[in-house]
Amino acid sequence: MVAELISVGTEILLGNIVNTNAAYLAEQCAALGLSLYYQTVVGDNEERLCGAVKEALGRSDIVILTGGLGPTKDDLTKEAVAKVTGRKLVEDKKARKVIEDFFRARQTDPKDITKNNWKQALIPEGALVVENKNGTAPGLIVREDNKHIILLPGPPGEMKAMFAEYIFPYLQKQNPGIIYSRMVKLCGIGESRVETMIRDLIDGQTNPTIAPYAKLGEVHLRITAKAEDEGQGKKLVKPMIRELKKRFGFYIYSTNERETLEEVVVTLLKEMNYTFAAAESCTGGLLTARLVNVAGVSDVLKQGYVTYSNKAKHKLLGVPKAMIKKHGAVSEKVAYEMAKGAALNAGADVSVAVTGVAGPDGGTPEKPVGTVFIGCSVKGQVTVREYHFDGSRQKVRENTVVCALTQLRECMLTRPKVK
Ligand code: ATP
Ligand code: MG
Repeated sequence: MVAELISVGTEILLGNIVNTNAAYLAEQCAALGLSLYYQTVVGDNEERLCGAVKEALGRSDIVILTGGLGPTKDDLTKEAVAKVTGRKLVEDKKARKVIEDFFRARQTDPKDITKNNWKQALIPEGALVVENKNGTAPGLIVREDNKHIILLPGPPGEMKAMFAEYIFPYLQKQNPGIIYSRMVKLCGIGESRVETMIRDLIDGQTNPTIAPYAKLGEVHLRITAKAEDEGQGKKLVKPMIRELKKRFGFYIYSTNERETLEEVVVTLLKEMNYTFAAAESCTGGLLTARLVNVAGVSDVLKQGYVTYSNKAKHKLLGVPKAMIKKHGAVSEKVAYEMAKGAALNAGADVSVAVTGVAGPDGGTPEKPVGTVFIGCSVKGQVTVREYHFDGSRQKVRENTVVCALTQLRECMLTRPKVK
């Protein structure tokens, strides 16, 4: 089924408020398995609003409008829907009672209730009234032929609560079936390369669909199937996951939506019976902190060294002063020695060391900002890699952490298991 959104309000058109209602509803439609091809924003103008509703009804099965249900003159949504569907506006007793109760609860003298408030009790004849637990303007569902016109209040708190409690289940009944989705998470491979490698799958997609998302240092692929039930969803998604595993193999670190890269690394350390130490310069503890996100890391984490100064690199990790002087703190040799020293001094099987120029200052023509060396030691065997990152200081540091975790995973997976 095809759904469509109309956001009503001149404030949205002028950019005075951000259209968060449309973002929320679009996501909900996707979760319901509804196709969504159009979103319209229209000001508080009856003629243009009628035009938008007419147009939407001509091409969609479900039209969801938000805003313009309130008591004031510029609230025109019900009037427009009534006009387009050729209905009268009639007073709904229940909706009137809600308004009476609302004011009674606030001990308002009936004389002080302004006349326009009763406007909120008017509904297009035959409409279904949807309770608003957070305000006075009820929501409405108007059935027209095989179409559903859904009117929701503008304030996001009212709209979302009403949608979640009443409209979502209502729409689910109209469009039976579920959306089943899985996430395939990759690291150590760039977004453009991933896209190129799945171009044919994207071009030929029907059910399931596949969509790549670039995360910092990672690429996630969401596979989504429309199905009658979960069992069928799983069946539809399975061959696609198998195909992705065939294409990307090692680069896939998880097919579990909730599993993070640091969790995978900690699990691997445990499985391989390895203890771990980190030596961090430009990341200043960020890498160790990422690993400490994982509950139970204490089984494997021996120590994290923050060795920002040259002195600390020498004192805590045993990097020779002369080496730092000759090659610079940001160098392959120093990263190598840092990794070796961290493993040795902490008594760990595995270590990772990072040293780099995070910027914005400190770059040179040979080592521009973003140059990072990551050393990884597994059972005394050290490998160092050079990276070049773009972006702000924070981005360089975060990218370094992801690449350090990726490199560590890779180094461990290419070593034999320790009994
Ligand atoms: P009220 O009874 O408050 O008048 P209403 O249903 O008539 O509610 P509007 O008058 O259109 O709705 O909007 C009321 C308020 O709700 C706006 O001032 C704004 O803060 C918020 N709002 C409306 N539409 C949106 C939207 N699309 N996205 C985010 N916020 C919105
Ligand atoms: Mg209003």
